[in-house]
Amino acid sequence: MPELPEVETVAAALRSQLPGRHISGVTIRCDKLRRPIPVKALQNLVNEAILGVRRRAKYLLIDMSCGQTLVIHLGMTGTLRLADKGEAPERHDHLDLQLDNGECLRFRDPRKFGLVLVVKPDDRNEIKELGELAPEPLSEEFSADYFYRLSRKRTTPVKNFIMDQRRVVGVGNIYASESLFRTRIRPTTAVGRLGRDRCRRLVTTIKEVLAEAIATGGTTISDFRKVDGSEGAFSRELQVYGRDGEPCAKCRQPIKKLVIGGRSTFYCPQCQKR
Ligand SMILES: [Zn+2]
Repeated sequence: MPELPEVETVAAALRSQLPGRHISGVTIRCDKLRRPIPVKALQNLVNEAILGVRRRAKYLLIDMSCGQTLVIHLGMTGTLRLADKGEAPERHDHLDLQLDNGECLRFRDPRKFGLVLVVKPDDRNEIKELGELAPEPLSEEFSADYFYRLSRKRTTPVKNFIMDQRRVVGVGNIYASESLFRTRIRPTTAVGRLGRDRCRRLVTTIKEVLAEAIATGGTTISDFRKVDGSEGAFSRELQVYGRDGEPCAKCRQPIKKLVIGGRSTFYCPQCQKR
């Protein structure tokens, strides 16, 4: 599943390619995603110019000259890439937005959990997920103080807390596991037990891990045509995620796996204290 760094990588690639282009046509091959694709609203974007590309949490926001915003969420398996207009679509290529330079922005989503919407920027009812979002992890708003204040008296496991979109957006499973390993905090520890110092280190580390992942993602995707929402080069940096049974890089104890909050969680029982 594309996580925040991958979505930011896609956003950066789109940002370098799309602004100034006009949409010259729309082809919809399947309109049944998480919600139906708004066929008419998309057709209304034809001849409009793309002003800019933003990211909020894992939503890509493409601002159009008509004042509307095209919202795309990649869901579990969605990918966006630029294809040449003549390139034949494959099975799960549900949507093409043709551009005035002979290319098209092609959306593929085998499992169809993705989302494509057209909204007015301030229309929060249209997309309530956007209105309710917590701070971005790389923003100043997500600070040690913020984290400390929010977590007092809470018995939620720290890992669930940092993955809770109402606290901070976009810290996915991989990055939560890795941040907790780097800070030597056990994922199951009640978040309210973390003192100021551990809160500060955890917030700093989450930012570091995400920034590294964005940086490596950005370097692997030199050609935007290959943007595929995969984990990129950062997967080579993983110290606990997906490594159960393998020796810990620091202490050689086997990495353990357990399921909390319905998600696989990886940690070193020796290095990560409660
Ligand atoms: Zn260890």
